[in-house]
Amino acid sequence: MLNTYNYKELSPDALSQLIIRNTDPAHTIQETVDNIIQNVRQKGDAALFDFTERFDKVKLDRLYIEEDDIQLLATSIGRDQQRALEIAFNNIYKFHQNQLRKEKKIDTMQGVTCWREARPIERVGLYVPGGSAVLPSTFLMLGVPARIAGCKEIVVCCPPQASGLINGYIAYCAYLLKIKRIYLVGGAQAIAAMAYGTATIPKVDKIFGPGNQFVTKAKTIVQATTNTAIDMPAGPSEVLIIADKTSNPIYVAADLLAQAEHGKDSQAILVSDSESLIEQVNQELAKQVEALPRVEIAKAAIAHSYAVLCSDLTQAMSFSNAYAPEHLILALDDWQSIINKIINAGSVFLGHLTPESVGDYASGTNHTLPTSAYAKAYSGVSVDSFIKKITFQHITPIGINQLGPTVEILAELEGLHAHKNAVSVRLRHKAE
Ligand code: NAD
Repeated sequence: MLNTYNYKELSPDALSQLIIRNTDPAHTIQETVDNIIQNVRQKGDAALFDFTERFDKVKLDRLYIEEDDIQLLATSIGRDQQRALEIAFNNIYKFHQNQLRKEKKIDTMQGVTCWREARPIERVGLYVPGGSAVLPSTFLMLGVPARIAGCKEIVVCCPPQASGLINGYIAYCAYLLKIKRIYLVGGAQAIAAMAYGTATIPKVDKIFGPGNQFVTKAKTIVQATTNTAIDMPAGPSEVLIIADKTSNPIYVAADLLAQAEHGKDSQAILVSDSESLIEQVNQELAKQVEALPRVEIAKAAIAHSYAVLCSDLTQAMSFSNAYAPEHLILALDDWQSIINKIINAGSVFLGHLTPESVGDYASGTNHTLPTSAYAKAYSGVSVDSFIKKITFQHITPIGINQLGPTVEILAELEGLHAHKNAVSVRLRHKAE
């Protein structure tokens, strides 16, 4: 059962307490992760073997698996599963390919031309989670845009299975993405290895991918302490559903549970202007949850999720914008009327027949999205995440005459005479 709050009874303090998630007030995650990072820095591969044994309960002989083994594992999965992964791959490819657009050159003044060109980030690290569930879909969501961007070196880390290998679905994705080696390392130790490099795992320029609180914390620490960038803090998953009397409680409950089964730390929020809809969804939740194989995980997630009763959909949308959900579902007949009120959200699902699951797997949009209210400032992963945009400019003789005197004045008013001189020598030279 979802705990229900009445929006109009929430003080500003109570509201901000309600929307806070995944904080680490006692710094326990931080301490654990700091320790793991220090170990990997000091002991390199030896620390990776140790942590894999301790956290994943696997004693490895080698920290990676290569092409021949990957191919063998890829062929072990059924044709239906291969086909489903191919359809997902193709849709993700189609959607992301469109993001690679050439920009126009702009003459800001006569003879002054400026433009931007994209260049791939050379060495990228992809983290494919594999703790509570193995996520081949995440591999596609990261690997496809990395390939489209043209990244030269793609390092992939994924926690090993009990067998000491990866599972066949991850292997099939590696085959589709033409990835020839996968490192069998998970958690904060994988992030540290990709940020600092070890004898076996290469250092990368940017790390991508979601993960649990250890992975997310490690990403934020290495971003602050190394020259390795990260895509975003993409932590435990969350959904916020706005529903009204037109919504189908069976669908809404199914969507909340689809989120809840991700992990005990996932959050599933229902916001509605209809008390009876909230009641019906609660009844459905109680029914549907028992049928799930991951019932205990889903129940734990639902226990710290909640519903918010609002007076109308505009109020529901202001709550949603304050929460800034990773996934937002508008389970409404009239979703068009509030779509322009969305300010903060990672990815949005419109109407009754668009469950979040389609975006999680195969519609084409990316599922690596900002969580914990980072959707206020971050976008989800896209081809843009894998490129840098470099600016260029070129000035002709007419251009330096047009713009030079302005730059001389601006440099002088800032007291930077060498800046002024770099323009003056050219203007003088042209005049002689
Ligand atoms: P994971 O791969 O993130 O984590 C598994 C690793 O955690 C293990 O290999 C281990 O090294 C480490 N670990 C486990 N217990 C530990 C401990 N006590 N101390 C230190 N390290 C420990 O897989 P997961 O746990 O299944 O989490 C996946 C997460 O990714 C879920 O929370 C899911 O919601 C999230 N997710 C988010 C998005 C997004 O876009 N935001 C997308 C997909 C998944």
